[in-house]
Amino acid sequence: MDETIVSENDLMSLIKSHNVSFYRKENCKNYDSITYRCSQYRTFTKCQYQLKAKVYHDGIYQIFYSQHHEHDELLEDTRLPTDLSFFSELNSASS
Ligand SMILES: [Zn+2]
Repeated sequence: MDETIVSENDLMSLIKSHNVSFYRKENCKNYDSITYRCSQYRTFTKCQYQLKAKVYHDGIYQIFYSQHHEHDELLEDTRLPTDLSFFSELNSASS
C-alpha cells in the first residue's frame, strides 16, 4: 500500500489521520526516509503501526503505511474483516 503526495501539508494531515508521531529519520542518496510510529505505542504495546515517508529532493513525498493499528485490547471495532463477514451473513439470511 503506498500513496504519493506532493506537499508537506498533505503529509502533516496524513500523520494526524493515521495517529502517528515522529520516530526517526534516515538520509538516503536520493531521498530522506522519515519513519513515524503509532502515537499510542506506550498504551498499545503490541501496536507496530508505522507510516514511512520517502521525501525526494524534488519535493515528492511517497508514503507507505501499515495495514492497521493493533488496539484490540480496547477497541474491538478495529477488526474490520470480521465485521464485514458478519454483515454479509446478515444480508444473505434476510434474502
Ligand atoms: Zn496503534
